[in-house]
Amino acid sequence: MNHVCYRTITLDDPASLETYQSLGGYETFKTILKNKTDPAVIIETVKTSGLRGRGGAGFPTGLKWSFISRDVPGQKYLVINSDESEPGTAKDTYILRFNPHQIIEGMLIAGYALGISIAYHYLRGEYWDEFQVCEKALAQAKATGLVGENILGSGFDFQIHNHLGAGAYICGEETAMLESLEGKRGYPRFKPPFPAVQGLYGKPTVVNNTETIASIPQIMENGGEWFANLGVENSGGTKIFSVSGHVKNPGAFELALGTPFSKLLALAGGIREGRKLKAVIPGGTSMPVVPADAMMVATMDFDGLQKAGSYLGSGGVIVMDDSTCMVKALANVSRFYMEESCGQCTPCREGTGWLYRTLEKILAGHGEMADLDNLLRVANNIEGRTICAFGEATAWPVQSFLKHFRDEFVYAIEHKRSMVTDQMA
Ligand code: SF4
Repeated sequence: MNHVCYRTITLDDPASLETYQSLGGYETFKTILKNKTDPAVIIETVKTSGLRGRGGAGFPTGLKWSFISRDVPGQKYLVINSDESEPGTAKDTYILRFNPHQIIEGMLIAGYALGISIAYHYLRGEYWDEFQVCEKALAQAKATGLVGENILGSGFDFQIHNHLGAGAYICGEETAMLESLEGKRGYPRFKPPFPAVQGLYGKPTVVNNTETIASIPQIMENGGEWFANLGVENSGGTKIFSVSGHVKNPGAFELALGTPFSKLLALAGGIREGRKLKAVIPGGTSMPVVPADAMMVATMDFDGLQKAGSYLGSGGVIVMDDSTCMVKALANVSRFYMEESCGQCTPCREGTGWLYRTLEKILAGHGEMADLDNLLRVANNIEGRTICAFGEATAWPVQSFLKHFRDEFVYAIEHKRSMVTDQMA
């Protein structure tokens, strides 16, 4: 299997400059500088690669880059999103820990292509160790003249600033991240204007996920078609899947997009002994849950998971076996979103609390049948009525759990205990 972002992970001293350079690291960027490659060619190559944002939204990266005009005068910014807060997701952390130079080279190439001279790399507050690794890698890159002014005598200037957040889930939302970088509270902004028009400090800004930007050097080295052919139609390249839950060997696996879920499950060791697969949340907890039957025939790519009734999201694959009480599982997810709502929009601020409290009421044995309609009504009234996609993140789990596992909720209300664990729900 071709590893794009995890290339160094099995090597000695994987995060060092020497290791990265032993794999040809920074040679692609140097060639671009030496040949004065036309920026339009770079953007076209990224478009050909079919690379889509790996943070969750899946927006085509080449298209996003083409929104930034090199000809607009004034400062522009590149912001790299290493906030990685989506529950069930632990993929960027291993790139940060083991391959930080590939992120830097990706930033350099993006900066050159987009006419940007300043990048901010935003890491989630809990990633203190990863932050130190990135700081060390940046110092090495600066010391060798790969980052700074007049890089390798080319006339191209590029500065990178690593920035540690304070641990708020919502700062993974791109505009909340920009607010946070500006030193303000991490409130998502209304869109439009989009960051490409009015981003950091009001200037045109490209925001890319860590895995997305780390894919760029390999795309430029091997060509857009090479990357596209690693995956399937509409889903070029590889994707890192973080598999957690009831599997024997949880972990992060970089695989070609289009890989069958059954193969990913086998790589994670399969389901725990004596248990059967019940359901999977394939893209982080904000994505709809998928029952076992649909999941076992699904492929892990943008279209494949949509066909299965969910989304690729961040690639955080949460596996649940038949010991899982779906009422408890949903309450757990809902509590997280209640606690992380930034509180700007009434449907989200109030609705997330209603959802959690209703689920808690059912779990406490005080549920009524009307609660199920109320859960759906509240979720439906949040979806599409908020400033940012957090609204959907809180509504989709409720809608999908009730769609596929309504019988468990009914049982919990009628019997005042869980259908699965035979205990008090
Ligand atoms: Fe904040 Fe929720 Fe509104 Fe997003 S949807 S801006 S998280 S209140």
